[in-house]
Order: sequence, then C-alpha cells, then structure tokens
Amino acid sequence: MKTFVRCGQLFTGCEDEAEAGRMLVFDQEGVLDYVGAEQAAPRRAGGDRMLDYSASFVMPGLIDLHTHLAYGNAKSEEDIDLYSPLEFRALRGLFFAQHVAAAGFTAICSPGDAGQIGLSIRNAIRAGLFDGPRVMAAGRYLTTHQGLTDWYPTWIGAPETSIGKLVTTAAEAVEEIRRQVKDGVDCIKIALDGIQRRDNGELVAAFTQDETGIMVREVHRLGKKAVAHARGREATLYAARSGIDLIFHANHLDDACIAAMLETGSAVCPTMTHPRNTVDFTQSHEPAYQKGRPRHAQREYEIGCANWKKARAAGVPMMTGTDTGFAVTPYGEWHARELELFVDDLGFSPAAALRAATEVNARFMTGGEHIGRLEPGRFADFIALDASPLANVGILQDRGRLRAVYIAGNEIRVAERDYDPRQVTDFALSNWTDLYTRARVAELRGQHPRLAAAE
Ligand SMILES: [Zn+2]
Repeated sequence: MKTFVRCGQLFTGCEDEAEAGRMLVFDQEGVLDYVGAEQAAPRRAGGDRMLDYSASFVMPGLIDLHTHLAYGNAKSEEDIDLYSPLEFRALRGLFFAQHVAAAGFTAICSPGDAGQIGLSIRNAIRAGLFDGPRVMAAGRYLTTHQGLTDWYPTWIGAPETSIGKLVTTAAEAVEEIRRQVKDGVDCIKIALDGIQRRDNGELVAAFTQDETGIMVREVHRLGKKAVAHARGREATLYAARSGIDLIFHANHLDDACIAAMLETGSAVCPTMTHPRNTVDFTQSHEPAYQKGRPRHAQREYEIGCANWKKARAAGVPMMTGTDTGFAVTPYGEWHARELELFVDDLGFSPAAALRAATEVNARFMTGGEHIGRLEPGRFADFIALDASPLANVGILQDRGRLRAVYIAGNEIRVAERDYDPRQVTDFALSNWTDLYTRARVAELRGQHPRLAAAE
C-alpha cells in the first residue's frame, strides 16, 4: 500500500520556492518514493490511500537542535539538577517530547541531560512504544572545576543527578566519553565556557585548547558528534579550532573564530529564543529580573546578532534551536520563534529560515540524510499548514494554523490535557528575593503604601 498526499503548495526544503499542484507518494515504511507534479505521479492502485492537503502548505517537519528533554520547564539550575528523580524526569520528558512533535517539530537534538534520559526517550519512541519526535541524544555535559554546570561549591561537586559530569583530567574526560558512547549517546556535550571572567569581562574557557582537542578527537574517533556550549570568545575559538560539530551560542565569536569554523566545518546554533524570551517575558518581581538577567540577556543578544551576521556572511552554517526546557521556554510553545528571530534580527529570508530549521539542521542530526527535505529516499516527515510561512514566518507559531504533523508517514496526534505544573517543576527553595534590612524596609515603605499602612 502506498500513500498519496495532494499538496496545495509544496516546499521541499531543496529550494527557496513552494510549488502548486505537487504530490508526495510514500511507502509502508514511510519512505518517500515520489515527489513532484501531480500529473506525472505514479498511478494509484486499489488499496492505496489518498491524503488531501490541497488547501494546505506542506513542508518538511521542523527540527529544533536545542531542546533539553530532562529540564522539565525548570525555574532554576537547582530545579534542573536536584529535585526530582531521574525516573520522573524521563516520564516527564517523554510527555513533553510529544508536545514538541505536536507543535510541528518532528526531530530534536537534546544536547545535555542528566542520566540516560534523552537516549531512553529516544529508544522508547524508536521502539514504537510511544509517539514522539526523532531524538538525537546526549548524556551529561562534560565539565571541569569552574566550568558551566559545575555550579555548586567544591565540597558538594556535581551530584549524580546533575546535568554536569565533573572531569578533572583529560584522561577522565576520555573515560567519560567512552562510557557515554557505550551507553548509546549520539553526541557528546562539552561545557566549554567557564564561570570565571577576566578583568575585561571576557569569559575564561573551562578547558584548555589541548584538552578540548583531546576530547573532540576521541568523540570523532568513536564516530559520534561533539557539541559545545560556548558564549565566550575563548571557548568558541577552542571549539572551532578543534573541529567541534556544533557550537551553541557563540555570542562573542570574532574573526579568528570564523576563520577556524570555516577551516574545520563547525556550525553555529545561536539560540536566540531563550535570551529574547528572557528579555520580553521576565516580570519585575522575578528573581531573574532582580538579578539583572533581562538587561544582561539584552546586551549579549545585541553583541551576538552583530557577530552571528558576520559568521553567516562568511559562510558559517547557521542552525536553529531554542534552549527549550526552561520556564521561559516551555516545551511545544516557542520553537518556531527562532525562525522569526532569524528573519527579524539576522536578516534571513523566510525561505532561508525554513531551510535552516529543516535541511540545514538535518545535516547535524544523526540519520540526517533521511530527514529535513521532502525528496525520494527520505522519510515522509512533514507538516501541513493553512497559510504560507513564506509570506509570514510568524504563522508557524500559531497552532491554529497547523493542520497535521506526520513522522515517517504516520500522523501524530497528542491529546490536550491539563496537568498541575507545580507537581512537574517547582521545587527550588528560594522564598525571598530581597533582604529586609531596616534601610531596605524604609525604602520599600516609600514605594508601597501597603507597607506604610502596616507601620
Ligand atoms: Zn542549552
């Protein structure tokens, strides 16, 4: 039995235009064997099925390279690391993975999670136990003392349930890489930014250039991909020089970083949605606001946009991802905002943004040669919309416009259900964000009549 899909407009991901009067044909395994004009399509046999999306815009399923399945819409780093067992996080992650797929994102990379959560969700979906997106999984971030994810004091270290795995020598790093590969990860995440800054404000890299090179070589020797978190210039440079496959953030990249990226083939996933949402949504009573996070995020965003544009102009591949999994980037909600930000703030055309989130992202994914484009030999992973995102890429964020989501030719339908978010993620212990000294209380009384009345 074959399935025929009549498309109102078809955007294959292979070029910038959509075409009318096209048809997709795929087999029982969900593999496309015809993509082209309806008149030239193979003849239908008796048992074949016809899907009519003649009023829709059909395009490849979207891919988000930066969705942390284990974070659970976390409100703090402690929420991510400490307060729920790995087993609960895995169940929660599967639930949320389905919501990501229902939003039109048929494949994701989960780059850095505690335990074996990402790969367990991947395997459960792959085995056919649950509907869900294709998942490319990493394990715990490799970090070292003063590296990102090594948040806690040295007398606590990185607890077993943390997203960070502390390694203190190159030999320990290599051992951890081999262990994660044996467990079945698709990629290894390296926390390349440190948490220390120089006097000029520059972030010091967590690992040296030599250590970074040793880790990346080992990952590649074992046939896996290496990804790094690197906002700072130094970490970005080390990552690019060592030939890391994908660099998240890279806000402070410079000409030397660009030259190294072009030489080794590193791609950049700027991840604009998380900082943009932090700026746009953080309310003034939030601890994040009181710590100055929105102001900081705004500054980093502006620096990043100037540098990302330079990297793109030089020919560095730019990929889309959102850092979904935080309270400002909940699952299934903002994934397509990244495309709009690529258009508005990096100067991408809507077609270029669509291709970034489909065929360009697919180049990074494990098995990416089978997804990201609608062409014979690839999977029928596609979405149908009742408007064209080529006219307005913002419509991808409007769930009312999404008619259907297919993965390997099977329609994904996720039932809407209410749940109690406080039983899912709200475990951090912080109760006050201010310190009520006599001076502070006097100041607040000046601002708030209610406090004054209580006097
Ligand atoms: Zn991230």
